[in-house]
Amino acid sequence: MNRFRAALTFLSQFSPGSSRGSGTGESSPFYDRLGLSFIKGTAFIAILLLCILPAACNDDSQEGQPLEGIILIVGDGMGLSLISQASLEKGTALNLERMPVVGLQKTSSATGSVTDSAAAITAILTGKKTYNEWIGMDTNGNPIPSIFEIAKERHWNTAIISTSSVTHATPAGAFAHVRDRDSEESIARQIAENPPDILIGGGRNYFLKGLNGPNQNALKSPIEILQKTHSISLSYSDFMNSSCDSLCLDGESVDRIVALLADNHLPPVDPSHKLDYKKDSGSSSTLQKDSIIHSISKSDDLRIGADPRSRQGYLELASERSLRTLQTMGGPFLMLIEGSQIDWGGHANKADYAVTELRDLDETLGALLKELEGRNVLIVVTADHETGGHAVLSGKPGEKQKVGFLTHGHSAEMVPVFAYGPGAETFSGIYENTEIFHKLLAVMEATPAISH
Ligand SMILES: [Zn+2]
Repeated sequence: MNRFRAALTFLSQFSPGSSRGSGTGESSPFYDRLGLSFIKGTAFIAILLLCILPAACNDDSQEGQPLEGIILIVGDGMGLSLISQASLEKGTALNLERMPVVGLQKTSSATGSVTDSAAAITAILTGKKTYNEWIGMDTNGNPIPSIFEIAKERHWNTAIISTSSVTHATPAGAFAHVRDRDSEESIARQIAENPPDILIGGGRNYFLKGLNGPNQNALKSPIEILQKTHSISLSYSDFMNSSCDSLCLDGESVDRIVALLADNHLPPVDPSHKLDYKKDSGSSSTLQKDSIIHSISKSDDLRIGADPRSRQGYLELASERSLRTLQTMGGPFLMLIEGSQIDWGGHANKADYAVTELRDLDETLGALLKELEGRNVLIVVTADHETGGHAVLSGKPGEKQKVGFLTHGHSAEMVPVFAYGPGAETFSGIYENTEIFHKLLAVMEATPAISH
């Protein structure tokens, strides 16, 4: 829209009224030379610009309309080299390549050059660097409000969608404040006490602990707290097999929903990539089933499904349905979508795993871009850090690449930030990860406040 506006401004310089201060109806020498009237000449150049400038052709958001919402997409561990591999192997452009604005963020934490996901998401969502392992707290141990909490205060609708447990570091960064990212039961409780409108991912077991426990006076489980305000879906197959276009439960549309679709993390897109999760790839201190009080079958209104083997199509479907629901809820929205397992492929130095997960996130972006054509929604896609010290070593476009890794951990390289929509231009340049918070906040503050 900005290039279109710039084109109009450029054209207006040839207007007799604006450039010459003379009366209307005069023809400018510029058009006289072309043998065109001013109006015909303007139309001719406008059409020419519309057809030769892809950004002007593609970006048809509605000028003057208020922002409808912000979608922040985080590819965990999605470094530039991995994106390069995905692009080379696809042989045609990724959806990421349709984003008109690109910047770079520096990813260091308060601990040092190499961040973990906890400190990184804290920087991105709160504007403060903190120690690795800490979420939503500054280095003095004070909780800091995240952009999601600020959005809720401003009566924005909020949504979190992940492919890991929703208590994992990145999704937890939206609403939790802990010094230890592995304290996922505390994180579940904090999310339940201050939930987003829409929460979709894994981590069912963290929310069920305490459900219908033997001691009726015991603290309520997080799911029991959430049941008061949200519809609850605990079955992957129910969620995926519904034929609704937007979020629904038993065929009925819902707006506020918590969908916890696996005991812990959702599976990879390709089941052959399944890992034994190590630290940071999800503390698979695999949840001990017997540590959970399983009297769920006694609860009439909670139907628990089995964990799926594959996650094919989940992220796109969950994101699209959430977007459609958010658009019907009234008022602006803030949504976080995380591709959690790109990082896990990087930790395992399994490029196929990381690329498959990256493609899944990219296809989700493609679906959202299609859905949002002509709408005033800002989309920002970035990573929290690079994982694996990945490099493409040789290959040909359109074919499988030979790649190498330098580490099983994260690296300190800058990661790209892609932006589309109103306010996108502020994401160009090179800046600290904390600046993303300030840029998002500026866009949010420029949106009229909701008074209800
Ligand atoms: Zn990691």
